[in-house]
Amino acid sequence: MSHGPVQAERSATIEGVGQRLGQHFLFDNSILERIALAACGEHAATVIEIGPGPGGLTQHLLPRCERLVAIEIDPALAGALRTRYASEPRFQLVESDVLQAGLSQWGPAVVVGNIPYYITSPIVDRALSLGPLLGRAVFLVQKEVADRLAAAPGGRDYGYLSVATQARCRAKVLFNVKCGSFRPPPKVESAVILLEPLSEPVCDDLAGFLRFASTCFRQKRKTLRNNLAGHFDKAKIDSLPEAAERAEQLAVGDLVRMFNILKD
Ligand code: SAM
Repeated sequence: MSHGPVQAERSATIEGVGQRLGQHFLFDNSILERIALAACGEHAATVIEIGPGPGGLTQHLLPRCERLVAIEIDPALAGALRTRYASEPRFQLVESDVLQAGLSQWGPAVVVGNIPYYITSPIVDRALSLGPLLGRAVFLVQKEVADRLAAAPGGRDYGYLSVATQARCRAKVLFNVKCGSFRPPPKVESAVILLEPLSEPVCDDLAGFLRFASTCFRQKRKTLRNNLAGHFDKAKIDSLPEAAERAEQLAVGDLVRMFNILKD
């Protein structure tokens, strides 16, 4: 039996299906090893890999963990992985849409993947929603999205996605990956992002805060006063020193402080 990644050229995958499922495979061992190391360090107990595809990353994760749960939607790729790791007790294949799989069922875990770009935001959201069960998440994503997830206030990339992410974790872009490293190459540059959960929540009412933050960024060019008008007491809004600023200028901590004043 071959122990190399399942052939990318897997003729069974019709090109259109591959595109629809965001199938751009990585075979560069040095990049795969860097991702596995960032996710697991020398050792991790449970690792959840999203979208293992032909198993290039899987091969680098397995020696570093006690249990690897791999969630793959494509039946042909899932079948090939199941066969390849049939005698590997640490490997568990879940043939499913990751958005339908309850990630918390495996307990505390590291979440990792060269993930399908068409569902980056919901995957990041599901990983972060694990709360204290999430050790860390390491994702290979579109570079533009990685920059937005980790952006600091005041910059071009900072917006609701940055706030919704950084309200729950520290986000750091680790390194970039060129289009040519994938087969087939995607049209956009990629980057590996590390998400490390905060030890203390930034706010007692996180769901309420995220709704508030979304209102603050509703129209990016408008001031907070304008975006918040009609949602909160006008006198309270006017009393905020930041009312004349735009949300994109404020750090998560500033927005949390405003939310705590306005919500009561
Ligand atoms: N990890 C592999 C690699 O690096 O070569 C494959 C990465 S490829 C960018 C994304 C993988 O996610 C594909 O194998 C694709 O079939 C799978 N995928 C796409 N949508 C999915 C979903 N909703 N749930 C689970 N896997 C999905």
